[in-house]
Amino acid sequence: MSDLLANLNAPQLQAVTLPPVHALILAGAGSGKTRVLTTRIAWLMSTNQVGPHGVLAVTFTNKASKEMTARLSALVPINTRGMWIGTFHGLCNRLLRAHYREAGLPQTFQILDSGDQLSMVKRLLKNLNIDDEKFPPRELCHFINANKEQGIRAAQAEAYDGYTQKRVELYAEYETQCNREGVVDFAELLLRCYELLNRNEPLCKHYQERFRYILVDEFQDTNRLQYSWLQLLAGGGAKVFAVGDDDQSIYGFRGAEVGNMRDFERDYAGQNVIRLEQNYRSHGNILAAANALIKNNRERLGKNLWTDAGDGEPIRAYEAYSDIDEARFIVDEIRELVRDGVSPTQMAILYRSNAQSRVLEHELFAKSVPYKVYGGLRFFERQEIKHALAYLRLLGNPDDDTAFLRVVNFPTRGIGARSLENLQASAHQMNSSLYNAAASLSGKAGQTVGAFIRLIESLRQETENLPLPEMVEHIIEKTGLGQHYRLEKEGQERLENLDELINAAATFVDAEGAIGEGGALVSFLTHASLEAGEHQAGEGDEAVQLMSVHAAKGLEFDVVFISGLEQGLFPHENSVNQGREGLEEERRLMKRKALAAEMPGREGLEEERRLMYVAVTRARQRLYVSCAQTRMLHGQTRYCVPSAFLDEIPANLLLKLNKKAAPAATSFGSGSYAAEPAAGGLRMGQTVEHAKFGIGVIVSTEGRGADARVQVNFGGSGMKWLALEYAKLTPV
Ligand code: ATP
Ligand code: MG
Repeated sequence: MSDLLANLNAPQLQAVTLPPVHALILAGAGSGKTRVLTTRIAWLMSTNQVGPHGVLAVTFTNKASKEMTARLSALVPINTRGMWIGTFHGLCNRLLRAHYREAGLPQTFQILDSGDQLSMVKRLLKNLNIDDEKFPPRELCHFINANKEQGIRAAQAEAYDGYTQKRVELYAEYETQCNREGVVDFAELLLRCYELLNRNEPLCKHYQERFRYILVDEFQDTNRLQYSWLQLLAGGGAKVFAVGDDDQSIYGFRGAEVGNMRDFERDYAGQNVIRLEQNYRSHGNILAAANALIKNNRERLGKNLWTDAGDGEPIRAYEAYSDIDEARFIVDEIRELVRDGVSPTQMAILYRSNAQSRVLEHELFAKSVPYKVYGGLRFFERQEIKHALAYLRLLGNPDDDTAFLRVVNFPTRGIGARSLENLQASAHQMNSSLYNAAASLSGKAGQTVGAFIRLIESLRQETENLPLPEMVEHIIEKTGLGQHYRLEKEGQERLENLDELINAAATFVDAEGAIGEGGALVSFLTHASLEAGEHQAGEGDEAVQLMSVHAAKGLEFDVVFISGLEQGLFPHENSVNQGREGLEEERRLMKRKALAAEMPGREGLEEERRLMYVAVTRARQRLYVSCAQTRMLHGQTRYCVPSAFLDEIPANLLLKLNKKAAPAATSFGSGSYAAEPAAGGLRMGQTVEHAKFGIGVIVSTEGRGADARVQVNFGGSGMKWLALEYAKLTPV
């Protein structure tokens, strides 16, 4: 016991050993929040204040929840298996699986990932003959998710104009379709679970009495619905222990609300707010850079971090000629560090956008440095894996139209687009799933689709009593998927991935047993949708870690490379725009128009800065920051300017590893780099707003005075040359 508390400082100890009260631990990066939360669970259990049964702990990623479980079993001798530790989505899924009937779901309900959701919306628009230019599917998904995250069903959604009215109707159609297919999207997992508890008093009471202690990590990134869900569960007297850092709130674009922290303090925590200010993770220079960066944000609860670890090394900065040069630099440094004895797993390359990983991967591969990518096109999102999973899903639930359409003609079975259109039309008319409607087809379509249905039926019989891995293998072979990729020229890697899927099934069964309602197949499919990417090949290998900054939240590494620090990339132009779109959507929902008018774009930029703060504070000993003058993105070479965030790091903390190339000789073309148009005080790298194209970043300038022109990268609206005299550009 004393061991348990031995390595805590005074405020940490106070937090861990608080009596049964609600509490908020508001503290900066690396100050031991996660450590405190885990130790508190261990302390509560080892002092017999609660059993494993009475604890509900929510963390942000599956990785974090696994780590928490592992740390717990190291701290207290208990069986952590079966404990309710997980992500919001994971825990809601678990609850819905246990009470699927009460929740109005089929036992084998499947989860739609964001790709599946998008294709479902596209299909819906097509069936209803709706112009997808007028109602872009992505926006519609966003609209639906934003509503669900506010706890608003289509029936309650308010329409303040004709356009929104139509969107609400489409939302309703989407709900009907999901119910018909027995599938739920990510936001639905939460909403459905919330509604179930809210409506079903005895059930809610059961869980309220069960969970005596509720602990939430990364509380700053909870959204309204998650907050209400927690409130419901805490309604029976449970004590909530929330830890978070407002400076690390990075999911505002998805509806997370830092305001939850203020509300929580007001409604629950009251006197029990504990601040931790000592950082145990990073050396002084790294921390100083992080503190200096985040000071530029206006919306903060305010706190300062210190460390007694000493200044450590300066932050190394490199300006590359191109993205390839940048990758070369990073990989060379890594090889040198490995030679010096640094473990590859203790090195991470972070990027703002997943698309950046390709060049880095290429270079790592070419130089034989083992690496592992988190996120991006993750294992379970690969085409061949999704095909195999779709067959498995159909075995579990024939009404799953998304799965049906994915594989009905894959590998090709001579089922044409026309036949499928007919099938979809009659399913629509009969108000049934495609699978059920198949019998209504006649002629050639009836034959080909009929053969497919028979294939699925016989697969179901053949695999009924097979263990999961053999079932997966059987499906891959008998559906023709294996053969298809064997014949494909570039199919080798896909075949290897399919083999890996069989391995994943075996590992899964070993780890989890045939647990869960609905048996191993359903649990495995759920695992595939919720835990995508965390069971890739080579787990446990000594590999350099590649991930987006979002995915790096809560983690720490000895050496961190932050790559692509360029205006428009980090801070990200789209995210500034998307962030705005998301926020505007939300404000509209919340009728906070006055506020919307007040703050154009700044919130998006502040969120980007928090993201940069998260990136910087991942590093323990050494931090690299780099940018490139040209970069290939989405098939185009872009000319870039260094990120404004680089300027926000005090120069005395930086060690520049190369001299800046002479501007005229580089990518900025026609030597115009120096020509800063005086008009309106605009300069390179500046973020500006244009009435028609939205928010953009100035990437080059040309001419002077009345001839001055600027090239602006408007993200979604593309690259534009604008004459300053005519184009009204307002600095953001
Ligand atoms: P983040 O905001 O990034 O999630 P955090 O506040 O959750 O960070 P932790 O991950 O819990 O911080 O801790 C950061 C590091 O500091 C960990 O390696 C942890 O073990 C270590 N640490 C925390 N408290 C102490 C302490 N009192 N003594 C020594 N090391 C500590
Ligand atoms: Mg943490």
